[in-house]
Amino acid sequence: MTKLDFLDKLGIEDVNLGGYSDKWLGSGSDLDCITPVDGTLIAKVKQCNPGDYENIMQTSSEVFKKWRMEPAPKRGEVVRKLANAFRKHKSSLGKLISWEMGKIQAEGEGEVQEMIDIADYAVGLSRQLYGKTMHSERPNHRMYEQWHPLGAVGIVTAFNFPGAVWAWNAMIAAVCGDVMVWKPSSKTPLTAIAIQKIVNEVMTPLGWDGVMSLLVGSSRDVGELLVHDRRIPLVSATGSCHMGRKIGEAVAKRLGRSLLELGGNNAIIVMPDSDPELVLRAVLFGAVGTSGQRCTSTRRLFLHKSISSSITEKLISSYSQIKIGDPLESDTIVGPLVDGKAVQDYSDALEIIKKEKGEILCGGNVIKSDGFYVEPTIVKANMGMQIVREETFAPILYLFEFENLEEAIESHNSVDQGLSSSIFTKDMQSVEKFLSHSGSDCGIANVNIGTSGAEIGGAFGGEKDTGGGREAGSDSWKIYMRRQTNTLNWSDDLPLAQGIEFG
Ligand code: NAD
Repeated sequence: MTKLDFLDKLGIEDVNLGGYSDKWLGSGSDLDCITPVDGTLIAKVKQCNPGDYENIMQTSSEVFKKWRMEPAPKRGEVVRKLANAFRKHKSSLGKLISWEMGKIQAEGEGEVQEMIDIADYAVGLSRQLYGKTMHSERPNHRMYEQWHPLGAVGIVTAFNFPGAVWAWNAMIAAVCGDVMVWKPSSKTPLTAIAIQKIVNEVMTPLGWDGVMSLLVGSSRDVGELLVHDRRIPLVSATGSCHMGRKIGEAVAKRLGRSLLELGGNNAIIVMPDSDPELVLRAVLFGAVGTSGQRCTSTRRLFLHKSISSSITEKLISSYSQIKIGDPLESDTIVGPLVDGKAVQDYSDALEIIKKEKGEILCGGNVIKSDGFYVEPTIVKANMGMQIVREETFAPILYLFEFENLEEAIESHNSVDQGLSSSIFTKDMQSVEKFLSHSGSDCGIANVNIGTSGAEIGGAFGGEKDTGGGREAGSDSWKIYMRRQTNTLNWSDDLPLAQGIEFG
């Protein structure tokens, strides 16, 4: 079995032995962890079973009673310590992310930086959980709203951001006074264990064990329990549209709250007056970064007819220079896909592309080696093809030509997903059209930057089948709290609203 130094630094060396007995690991069956880097088994993890789930939920419910009474700025202090711990472990954790799910090391460390950023943001937020004050229509009455902690938040995360997505939820939920139970993807349990280890390093000495808990287990054994559990008022779930439909329905059935961050089918529109250098860099990062396994990956590229062939040529030339390989080597640009199923999905998509008469301009092959590597692919396509409407989680970029912006926007908006979008142009009217009510229908719309790589300060999420949820900055924190409207009468009378005289 492979064993790398950075695991020791995170204190998870024992995981290789399969006998890991720390409190967040369960008494269920073993989960095999295979690295996509070379396809070898690197660890076995004990999964939680329904009994472990119940223990965790009971502890969380008890801890919530105390945590909610801790003043928010004090909760922020705890999160500040977490941010510092993430800083301390940035390099090791970044490498573990690369090793476990295959993104290149720069992106792995970037992901940890995102965890640090959201924690720093949450520290400030802990002093800004503002409610509004309203003028009462009744004399000598005061009316205002306040935000209370909500309870236990269930956090279900996808494999492609095994740390950051948890942090977006957990750091904000923590300052809001919630406790949380995290079910990570079964493809990335090691990153989750390492993070929980870091959390415990900070929280246990402070007496805050149980504010953040981890539940490694299958969606069938523990995911379903969490989704149906009335003790969890909010389920924040990140993953495919298919998963979102199932979870959304189950949570709605019990009238719970869900925050859904689902699949995207993101596009860039390139106008004739755009800067080709910027376009190339943005498309490359958007389409092949994380091997096309970002929710915000660029999947469709709309090129104005007048510049279509020159941009296409340049793109093909750039693709031919991409180094594909071990994500832990510093000059690698594209690492592996996460597993064999992802490679199969890529191959299946290519078969459909061929059947639908798409023209493969470059790439299109599975690379025969240890690990799960494929060639980044460019396809000349049209919106009549069914495959371009789906999110294939792999580096496949579809090119389309257009003659005018209105037509491009209509094609752009015609898919079911609505996460991220962008336009490249220097023309003010084109910019405003793209950002107007009749422009992009996505949750994120950018100008002269690509579709991926959002900052944590804005609200992140998408419309339509992407689920409508918003995480990270702006006022996203409100979903993690319950709003209470308070009216106080300090008069000696009891006037009724709407001037009603009663009795
Ligand atoms: P997935 O849907 O296969 O799994 C996501 C998580 O949901 C996993 O933890 C899985 O175990 C869990 N899950 C699945 N069914 C469940 C059920 N019935 N009950 C409880 N839990 C269940 O997704 P994935 O392959 O891990 O990730 C890729 C997908 O995630 C892509 O579609 C991508 O676009 C999306 N994603 C979206 C965002 C966003 O912010 N919009 C961010 C990252 C990833």
